[in-house]
Amino acid sequence: MKLAIFDEQRLGVVSSDGRSVVDVTDALHDHDADPIGAGWWVRLMRDLDATRSRLEEAAKRGKALPLSSVRLRAPVLNPGKIVACAANYSAHVAEMGTVLHRVGGARPSWLMDFDVFLKAPSSIVGPGEAIVLPQRPVAEGKEIHHEGELTIVVGRGGANIAEADALDHVRGYTIALDITVRGEGDRSRRKSYDTFTPVGPWLVTADELTDPHALHIALTVNGQPRQDVDTSTMTVKVPAIVEYASSVMRLEPGDLILTGSPPGVGKIVAGDLVETTISGIGTMRTPVR
Ligand code: MN
Repeated sequence: MKLAIFDEQRLGVVSSDGRSVVDVTDALHDHDADPIGAGWWVRLMRDLDATRSRLEEAAKRGKALPLSSVRLRAPVLNPGKIVACAANYSAHVAEMGTVLHRVGGARPSWLMDFDVFLKAPSSIVGPGEAIVLPQRPVAEGKEIHHEGELTIVVGRGGANIAEADALDHVRGYTIALDITVRGEGDRSRRKSYDTFTPVGPWLVTADELTDPHALHIALTVNGQPRQDVDTSTMTVKVPAIVEYASSVMRLEPGDLILTGSPPGVGKIVAGDLVETTISGIGTMRTPVR
C-alpha cells in the first residue's frame, strides 16, 4: 500500500500506478488536521496492521483523485527524530576523499566509518517543495550537496532490536534527500538547515517492498545523472541499521532512518531541479532556490 499525506493533512491511498489518490481520512477514528497534533499519524505507523483493512476498504469505495489535483505533503508528520546513516556505500566513502580535498574539509578517520547521526525534524519539506539554500554558508563559499537516500519509516518502535526481528519494526520506505553543507563543522548542523530534508512522494509499506536491497536509486540534477546505484551495494543492510540505531536510541513509531548516501554527491545551486527516483517507490522532484 502507498500512503500519502496531502492537502490539509488528509490521508490518502495512492493507486498502484502512482497516478491517483483516494482520500481515506474518514476511515481513521482519531484524525486531526492540526499538524501539531500528529498523534494520529504516529499511531497509524504503530498500528497499521490493525487499521489496514479499513483503509483498503475505503480506498476501494472512494473516489480516485488525479494526483495532479492535490498537493502532496511529506509522507511523515512530526517524527520524533530523523536518524541518518553515514558512510554506508563504499564508493561514496571513496569519493569523499576527493570531495573534501576540494572543499577544504578535514577528513578525520571516524568521518569515514559507518555510524548514525541526527538531523532536525524541522528540516523536512514535502515533495515538490524547494530546498532554500541558506544565506550564510552560501556567502562563505560553501558547497551544498544532494544525497538521495532510501529511507526507512519506523512502525513498531523499540530499543535494542535484534537484527533477526528488525524488519518487523519497519513500517515502510520512502525517498529522502539528505541535503548537506560540505566541509568542516558539526555534521548534524550542516544537515539540519530548514528545507534540508525533502521527503516523498509517499510511503510504500514494507509488505510491498520485501527486499529493500533489490532497489535502484537514480538522482539527476537538471536531467543530468549524478547518483545511480543499486541498494544491494549498501554496506550495512537495513536489518543491521535498525539493530545498530536502536542500540543507540530507542526507535519510535514514525521515526525516519535515512540509509546513507550513494556515490555521486555534488553541488546544487539556485534554479536546479533535483529528481530522485527509487524503483518500487516513485519519483520526487525538488527545485532549489
Ligand atoms: Mn546522507
